[in-house]
Amino acid sequence: MKNWNQISYDIQRVISNTAIAPGAYILKFKKNNPFAAGQVLALGVSKEIEPRYYSIASAENEDLISILYTERIEGKLTPMLSLLKPGDNIMVSKPFGTFTQVKPSPVFVAAGTGIAPFMSMLLSGKAKGATLIHGAPYPEYFYYSDILLSTLGESYIRCCSRCQSGCLFVGRVTDYLKQWNDLDVNSPFYLCGSAEMVVETRDILISRGVPVSNINSEIYF
Ligand SMILES: Cc1cc2nc3c(=O)[nH]c(=O)nc-3n(C[C@H](O)[C@H](O)[C@H](O)COP(=O)(O)OP(=O)(O)OC[C@H]3O[C@@H](n4cnc5c(N)ncnc54)[C@H](O)[C@@H]3O)c2cc1C
Repeated sequence: MKNWNQISYDIQRVISNTAIAPGAYILKFKKNNPFAAGQVLALGVSKEIEPRYYSIASAENEDLISILYTERIEGKLTPMLSLLKPGDNIMVSKPFGTFTQVKPSPVFVAAGTGIAPFMSMLLSGKAKGATLIHGAPYPEYFYYSDILLSTLGESYIRCCSRCQSGCLFVGRVTDYLKQWNDLDVNSPFYLCGSAEMVVETRDILISRGVPVSNINSEIYF
């Protein structure tokens, strides 16, 4: 990981930092550089903490950048991010990353905050015909579910690992993919989440006949 002396960055003012679920926040600040949906930024609050990377969750044409993040109680940066108030300073790198090439009718598979790059793609109109399979432990962690229900309808599949049976699929995204009857091996798949989630998901897709060349991934470490 680079340090702040090796990165070009601006100081931005926080516009808002809103709790949207226990331990989950959306941070907003002014957009200073154009970006492609799927790209990330490095954020920080002081040079002493190495830059951490965050996917941009907002649309390409919005004036504000939105970052969806969860607080890690033992983490170095996120407990400080969660305390930021409007008007506070934040260090923001230029956008970078190559998780941006989306083919038509993509299948997005996300765990937790891994939904962020897909939100940016959907809100930017770059994911026509998309299916989104999102995994979370409890219903309140299906971020942006109102907008996703209205835009994707039945192509928005929520996999709730700690729910009792109800209207959501009970289990992880990997459980869903193992039994998904409509899985089309020719679809382009895009995975985003922890290394463990991405590797397990990729292995299941391959075992179901999806060619490796159809699987793209972004790993959050
Ligand atoms: C390309 C990319 C995009 C990303 N996008 C997002 C995003 O959009 N949203 C998001 O929320 N995250 C995202 N991440 C993850 C993010 O960069 C940070 O890793 C995350 O927010 C944690 O940062 P932190 O400084 O709070 O925790 P860190 O200090 O980095 O700690 C991470 C974890 O390690 C554990 N840990 C730390 N030190 C110790 C120790 N000494 N002993 C035991 N355990 C320890 C902590 O409990 C914590 O859970 C992304 C990562 C990458 C690589």
